[in-house]
Amino acid sequence: MKCWHCKTELVWNGDYSIDDQDDDYQMVSHLTCPNKTCQCLTQVFVPKLLEKETLKERQVLLEVIKGKLK
Ligand SMILES: [Zn+2]
Repeated sequence: MKCWHCKTELVWNGDYSIDDQDDDYQMVSHLTCPNKTCQCLTQVFVPKLLEKETLKERQVLLEVIKGKLK
């Protein structure tokens, strides 16, 4: 992934769980720009929708909807 500002390849700095502090996002990834004249910090927020339980619930919901359509 490249820096938004200077297009240098970003360095991954770690993933942090924010599950307890945020309703919509479960995790944030930190990526920093190694370019000394830029040094931007990029944060990537991972939504809770990607959790397995939620996907399973959506699948069940889809099956229910399909069942009703028949
Ligand atoms: Zn940069």
